[in-house]
Amino acid sequence: MNITAAYELLKNAFASGRAAHAYILAGPPRGSCQAVTEKVLQLLFCESGEACGECRGCQRVVEHSHSDVLWVEPEKKSRIISIDQVRNLQTRVFQTSFEGGWRSCVIVAADRLGQEAANAFLKTLEEPPERCVFFLLTDSPQSLLPTILSRCQHLRLGGEKEELPDDVEARLVEILSMTGENGSLGALGQADAMKALLKDIKTAVEEGEAELAEEEATAHEKDVLDARVGARFREVRTSLVRFVMLWFRDVLMLLCDADALVYNTRHIEAIRKRAAAVSLSQAMKDLAMIEEMHRRLERNVNDAVVFSLLFTSLE
Ligand SMILES: [Zn+2]
Repeated sequence: MNITAAYELLKNAFASGRAAHAYILAGPPRGSCQAVTEKVLQLLFCESGEACGECRGCQRVVEHSHSDVLWVEPEKKSRIISIDQVRNLQTRVFQTSFEGGWRSCVIVAADRLGQEAANAFLKTLEEPPERCVFFLLTDSPQSLLPTILSRCQHLRLGGEKEELPDDVEARLVEILSMTGENGSLGALGQADAMKALLKDIKTAVEEGEAELAEEEATAHEKDVLDARVGARFREVRTSLVRFVMLWFRDVLMLLCDADALVYNTRHIEAIRKRAAAVSLSQAMKDLAMIEEMHRRLERNVNDAVVFSLLFTSLE
């Protein structure tokens, strides 16, 4: 699920008094997981109770300086969360809260709990303090003790990786909006534009990963970096195909007068234009074609070939 969906789910859980003692947020720990956690904590500590983002309570949450929120991260040198850190956590969570309300403990990269530390933490989860909520953020929940896993509620965050970068989305919408206006020449134009877009995505991914490797100061051998670039590129491409699929699905929904079921309401005007230009049977063919494209990409058929084929077969 994305950040908004996860936040809404947690918000409802707290509002209805059915929140769990502990949540595992699976996804990029310092990315979407942290974003959701901070937003929920703002909800708990906001002076207006609405996660306004402006008040002192909200600000201290994002600065990680709130006295009722303990952030636990792996130690710099050993890169693990030590037993001492867990003991400190245990002392803190059983103290009464400074402000008389909720307390929380966020464990960033919870898979880094050392064995002894994990066992100690398990004890806390077995008898959790009142009015205290734990957030365990991790990108590899499978590395946590099964006994810890079973005591937490799980939320899987696709996070930002599921969503297209804004600039990519804008260009994609432009390309999709070209459909059906200029006949086959338009289709070739679309295929070319799509090729160019994929090339730029690739470049952006390469630059991003190189930067990341530098920041992490890891020994970045070329094949490791290449593998990362490949994986990230495929992620963006999958989101892109998903976006295209939903686009054509929305066209079909509009043609069936099911406007309320349109997913991509942000671009409904452009989608409406497409719907006005095609027949129902054509829209269904288009969707089948996109699915075929998706299968081919999964089988590693060359991107450019697949996209040219797609646009030339769309009327
Ligand atoms: Zn606030």
